[in-house]
Amino acid sequence: MQTVLPARSVAVVLGTRPELVKLAELIRVLGPAARVVHTGQHYDEELSGGFLDELGLPEPAYLTGVGGQPRAVQIAAALHGLDALFAAEPPLAVVVQGDTNAALAGALAANARDLPLVHVEAGLRSHDRAMPEEHNRVLVDRLADVLCAATPDNRELLLAEGVPEERITVTGNPVVEAVRDHLPSADARGRLLAAHGLTADGYVLATVHRPENTDDERALTAVLTELAGLARELPVVLPLHPRTRARIEAAGLLPLLDGVTVLPPAGYGTFLALARHAALIVSDSGGVQEETTVLGRPLVVVRNSTERPESLADFAELVDPGPAIGAAARRRLAEGPPGLRHLATLPSPYGDGTASRRIAALIAKTVAARTSTAPKREHAALAA
Ligand code: UDP
Repeated sequence: MQTVLPARSVAVVLGTRPELVKLAELIRVLGPAARVVHTGQHYDEELSGGFLDELGLPEPAYLTGVGGQPRAVQIAAALHGLDALFAAEPPLAVVVQGDTNAALAGALAANARDLPLVHVEAGLRSHDRAMPEEHNRVLVDRLADVLCAATPDNRELLLAEGVPEERITVTGNPVVEAVRDHLPSADARGRLLAAHGLTADGYVLATVHRPENTDDERALTAVLTELAGLARELPVVLPLHPRTRARIEAAGLLPLLDGVTVLPPAGYGTFLALARHAALIVSDSGGVQEETTVLGRPLVVVRNSTERPESLADFAELVDPGPAIGAAARRRLAEGPPGLRHLATLPSPYGDGTASRRIAALIAKTVAARTSTAPKREHAALAA
């Protein structure tokens, strides 16, 4: 289904791997109406470049001066670049996803030009003020005109903060369709596992990239020590994020990886295939907490807090970096095939795979409403 929005009228602002994953289907549904702007927050061939092709995304416009900068500079530089783009060719709506610096810059740029702002994955809260992402998501939700909540609980959190009900719609999370669209076929998954010498349900898949685990040498040592311990019992596969690799090298911790199967960051299909057949996943990623519920696999989340409590009910367990990782992992592994069969019967709390189409319809409705009324109403009132 394609919407009837004018060509290039919806600016989709993104800057990191999870945003590419979660916005790919919306961009496809929007078709020629989508105008993708990549802020360059994580522009890295391993994390973004190959993903554009794999996810079938159109070539975005790139901003410069953002990647590798401190947070305030990233936001300021992206805001500056976006404002120039929006001034030259004003969109009818701006879409951002999640809680990145790119999302906050997109939200501020929309606000500065009085453009309707659509926030995909609204209403997530970790209540952890140590996380820059928590500040980003709260700020984006305050600015958004259309808040696409992934779950009913996300909607409740927004209502409790005083967001007007009419701005919020429970759409589900587009991660569900991302997983369904990009999980390779059973045959392809079988070949991939064989190529890595892995057996279905017979290995652990791990990812580590959050600063709380990588930038604190004690935490990084603890995580790697636990993975090394598990690797003495069954294969542990670790697609290694470039930042984590740099920290491990700088801290002299490479020997801890001796027994672990270290891979470069995996393409999305490869990662999903590995996750689909893992006996257990150990990760600090946000998106992986959602994907595991679609794939029906158990997860140990190595974080101080989570903004995705829905995953904790059946699929995931939250642990601090340290021996709790190994203990939780062994507990989940002991559930064996019956545990995996049980998880496979449970629906994902993140929706039914129609979020992107619902969000596209909301965008079309918002643009139609905005173009049929006086556009500068609220700003004019403020100036008066
Ligand atoms: N991912 C991937 N290859 C990898 C590791 C992760 O494709 O080697 C995907 C994963 O499936 C998820 C996304 O990247 O969709 C998560 O990105 P990341 O962990 O960087 O960010 P977060 O979700 O924590 O914001």
